[in-house]
Amino acid sequence: MEEPIAVAVVGVGHLGRHHLRLAATLSCWRCVGAFDTHRERLAALAAEYRVPALPSLEAAVERCQAAIVATPTVTHREVAEAFLAAGKHVLVEKPLAASVEEGEALVALAETKRVVFGVGHVEFFNPAVQAVLAQEPQPRYLETQRLSPFTRRSLDVDVVLDLMIHDLHIVQALNAGAPIAEIRAVGVPVLSPRVDLANVRLAFTNGCVANLTASRVSSERIRKLRIFATDAYYSVDYGEQSVHAVRLARGEPEPAIVPVPVTVDKAEPLAQEHWAFARRIRGESTPFVTGEAGLAALRAATAIVAAIGTPVLPHERCCAK
Ligand code: NAD
Repeated sequence: MEEPIAVAVVGVGHLGRHHLRLAATLSCWRCVGAFDTHRERLAALAAEYRVPALPSLEAAVERCQAAIVATPTVTHREVAEAFLAAGKHVLVEKPLAASVEEGEALVALAETKRVVFGVGHVEFFNPAVQAVLAQEPQPRYLETQRLSPFTRRSLDVDVVLDLMIHDLHIVQALNAGAPIAEIRAVGVPVLSPRVDLANVRLAFTNGCVANLTASRVSSERIRKLRIFATDAYYSVDYGEQSVHAVRLARGEPEPAIVPVPVTVDKAEPLAQEHWAFARRIRGESTPFVTGEAGLAALRAATAIVAAIGTPVLPHERCCAK
């Protein structure tokens, strides 16, 4: 059996606590501890998972071979940089960074240091997404919906960087990285000063069109992906981890739409992401969201935010002439 990898978790908030749970339990890791600036939260979770509560970021850098960073997006650059500069492998939560410039700096540093650098686009590790990617669908048209009730979390970024970026990455993966030719976007702030719901139509240079909707002020939770290919259709429910697929049979006397069974082996996407990170560190080739892929998603998200423009706040809207 391979030696477990010494891992540290930084940021044990809403998502980071799940990273800590997996760092403390998966056999690929030996958790050397966690660090969080919120001392009480850190102490409680370190006790729950029986790992050391580290006194500082420097202590985490010193003790680990690999780090998982789940601090607020505005801190990703500073925290991830500390590990990368010391030659440690890093998995940083999505979005990669608060700006393209910061993301580029992290990707460049990881390359210089020749370490594994990944971004936590966890939806890529959803078994339903992997099952669809394995079908190589060649989409002509894509539709995504990611609607969530308001939680007050991740308000340091707008809904495009908070939620839509998950689907942007999946759409880019399905389009094999084809560049975006045109963006038509609209977004409005509702309960926060930033854009809380957004819709975008992307036209790719390969002719594919994608229509993405994201909201963090919805009354219901919906996470759907629909892929229309020339001779096939796939409907993915991320939450259910299910794929409904049909294909066009061009038979006589007339064409017919026939079901295609797609097997999905349900699993926790975050655990799959951990295993992929560990395998990459061990030099294995396995599907993974690299820093470059995270940067491509961040570039697309930033371009969408620019296309939306300066949002008009609700109190300004009612007073606009
Ligand atoms: P959160 O506010 O619940 O947790 C962040 C934690 O980081 C807090 O405990 C805070 O005390 C700590 N922290 C802040 N600055 C720090 C620093 N400099 N050093 C150490 N600790 C620090 O936030 P969250 O909702 O868990 O989000 C964290 C990150 O995870 C964000 O980038 C967010 O976009 C991402 N996220 C990803 C997903 C996903 O599906 N992949 C889901 C939710 C959040």
